[in-house]
Amino acid sequence: MTAPAPKPWIAAIAPYVPGRATTDDGRKVAKLSSNENPLGTSPAAVEAFQSAGHSLSRYPDAGAAIVREAIAAKYGLDPARIIYGTGSDEVLHLAAGAFAGQGDEIIYVRYGFAVYEIAARRVGATPIVAPDTDYATDVDAILACVTERTRVVFVANPNNPTGTFVPRAEIARLHRGLPADVLLVIDQAYAEYLEPEDDDAGLSLAMNEPNVLVTRTFSKIHGLAAERIGWGYASAPIVSAMHKIRMPFNITIAGQQAAVAAINDDAFVDATRAHNAKWRAWFADEIASLGNAGLRAIPSQANFVLVLFQGALTGEAAYKGLMEAGYIVRWLPGQGLPHALRITIGTEAECRGVIAALRQLVERAG
Ligand SMILES: *Cc1c(COP(=O)(O)O)cnc(C)c1O
Repeated sequence: MTAPAPKPWIAAIAPYVPGRATTDDGRKVAKLSSNENPLGTSPAAVEAFQSAGHSLSRYPDAGAAIVREAIAAKYGLDPARIIYGTGSDEVLHLAAGAFAGQGDEIIYVRYGFAVYEIAARRVGATPIVAPDTDYATDVDAILACVTERTRVVFVANPNNPTGTFVPRAEIARLHRGLPADVLLVIDQAYAEYLEPEDDDAGLSLAMNEPNVLVTRTFSKIHGLAAERIGWGYASAPIVSAMHKIRMPFNITIAGQQAAVAAINDDAFVDATRAHNAKWRAWFADEIASLGNAGLRAIPSQANFVLVLFQGALTGEAAYKGLMEAGYIVRWLPGQGLPHALRITIGTEAECRGVIAALRQLVERAG
């Protein structure tokens, strides 16, 4: 008996593992595993979302005009050069799908975002993994991986799961080192958490260079992860190729309304950034004080911290112990990080609770 066989490059995909919301024994506890916004969502966005409930029988605007106009006004962009997707995840897939296929290579860094490998394999391209330098993106290592088969380079900045940030001069050097026919995708899911002066390193490149795509999301600082809205900015030819293969109606009506309200709610964005900066610094200091127990926080510019466990308390034991104490964080053995946990900066109570639980675990591990 034969059955339909998936293409070999599809069979080779290891499925994406989302952050968990419940413990092994089914308890619902504090979820610090998906980098969601601890302040929730802009009240204006919630209201806009709810007011869209009367149009369920209508298809959304396939052109997402109100979203593109709002984004363009906010960042001084050309609305015609904005691509959008069901989350920036879709935009990343569109980039791979429009510019790479069998026989081509897609480069990303070790300890990079898990979606890049899936996006590369999905289109039959060969994933090429550039080594890191102490968990951070190494521009020279990426450039050393480039061949005549390279079609796309994915760089998250700040990076997930490490939180590390590549300064704008280094990103510019990466771009200069790439052949003109390689698409550089700068995934800025966490850009809004940076101090404003660093903020548009990616967007200014995307405005001026024909081979740079910047992606952004409404899931993180805007607190709209449930609605799945992402966008990207690139030259007109790049964007028009991606439009050809996106799902026609890829942002819902309610999602479009909510996104417009969210991007205009500066107070909510500022409050989220300030909360994150304060508690991320506190959290990193607390981890540093556990340094003699082998804990180390990788310096983060995002809304999470990658903590290494190199003493008696292992990453796996810390993961299980935190779950027991009521905190689900991200343990990523499948991404080569069995000795690390990625912990989202939550509310004040959650930050304090995680640190207290870690201190107990460290003591018990002796
Ligand atoms: C969260 C995240 C995204 C995208 O999320 P969407 O919800 O699909 O917009 C993209 N890239 C990185 C690095 C992320 O961490």
